[in-house]
Amino acid sequence: MQSAQTGNDVRIERLIEWLRDAHAMEAQAETMLNKQASRIEHYPELKARIDQHITETQNQARLIEGCLQRYDKSYSGLKDLGGKMMAMGQAMGGMMVNDEIVKGAQMGYVFENLEIASYTILIAAAEAVGDTQTKEVCERILVEEVAMADWLREHLPELTQAYLTRAAEPNVEAKR
Ligand code: MG
Ligand code: FE
Repeated sequence: MQSAQTGNDVRIERLIEWLRDAHAMEAQAETMLNKQASRIEHYPELKARIDQHITETQNQARLIEGCLQRYDKSYSGLKDLGGKMMAMGQAMGGMMVNDEIVKGAQMGYVFENLEIASYTILIAAAEAVGDTQTKEVCERILVEEVAMADWLREHLPELTQAYLTRAAEPNVEAKR
């Protein structure tokens, strides 16, 4: 039989790994959202919501860093740079399409749901090892991810309509 101590170590190891994944995910989110917001010209409501979520995302990364530092005081998020570069590539790829604003909101909704799944997993893992501080942090972050996902889903129809209205006008830019 496995000792209780060994079992607990494996669970903590996994929790720390998933916290690192979440930190990389937030770094990627910040890069993508910044790129998106900087490109938007004709859809101020979407830009304002993204700007709000950039602030939330920066704070989320700091909160997750705090959770990691409670396990390892020397933790630094430097290795997350790879994720940032990848996100930049993805955001640049999105600029090639003529329905960039719609595709961006679509991908944004997908990304928020990835975040929702990640924090749901982290909450369960934190609970499993009795890390109430990490659990509370992840519950707080989850609320923001759900709010962003809900907002995007609720606004996709009117964004699509606004895009199509502009796209149908001659000499009017619609994609951003
Ligand atoms: Mg996030
Ligand atoms: Fe998010």
